[in-house]
Amino acid sequence: MVQIHATHSDSLCDDVCATCENIRKRVVGALEEEEKLEATDAYGDHIRRAKVVITY
Ligand SMILES: [Zn+2]
Repeated sequence: MVQIHATHSDSLCDDVCATCENIRKRVVGALEEEEKLEATDAYGDHIRRAKVVITY
């Protein structure tokens, strides 16, 4: 299943796919700094993959 990412940017934005939404919830709900960094990292990874998908 491939999500279509219409409005991805390098920062957390309002109009995102389900994966972004999940990661954003992790960032917002993170209690520890390490947890937050991990979620932010996952987001960056997701964005890179999304851009690859768009390029193809
Ligand atoms: Zn996304």
